[in-house]
Amino acid sequence: MVSNVFDLEYRTRRVSALRTRLAESGCRITPQRLAILDALVNGASHPTAEEIYALVLKVSPTTSLATVYKTLDTLKALGEVQELELGSGRNHYDAVDPVAHPHVVCTQCGRIEDVRIEGASRLLEEASRASGYQLLTERLEFFGICHSCQTTKN
Ligand SMILES: [Zn+2]
Repeated sequence: MVSNVFDLEYRTRRVSALRTRLAESGCRITPQRLAILDALVNGASHPTAEEIYALVLKVSPTTSLATVYKTLDTLKALGEVQELELGSGRNHYDAVDPVAHPHVVCTQCGRIEDVRIEGASRLLEEASRASGYQLLTERLEFFGICHSCQTTKN
């Protein structure tokens, strides 16, 4: 029902919003940085820094992995990217939707996808009420086996 939320139009707007945020924070908008933003938003779902780097190299071969990390750090500080640590040893990044949201993770192929759950946004409030903590953010991840791994018989 919401599969088209992050359509091409949204992603195009998202890239230019990120570009504006970077520029406002004093970052020089170089072709390398633009390639990073494009890979981050239009590349694989929830990419690692290495996956972003591999895409960026195709269009901007002079980019370094350090620049990828630096740009991710800046976007993180601006609250424009979510960093997901899912126990794979490599962090994944979601700049398509920077607001905390639930994910499903395939333990076989490592695929990560957004999952929309009714009431997920109320969990933070309820956890806050139950614990008395002033909660700032939440992470909600479900682990299991994705569609395509379920149909691939080992
Ligand atoms: Zn996500």
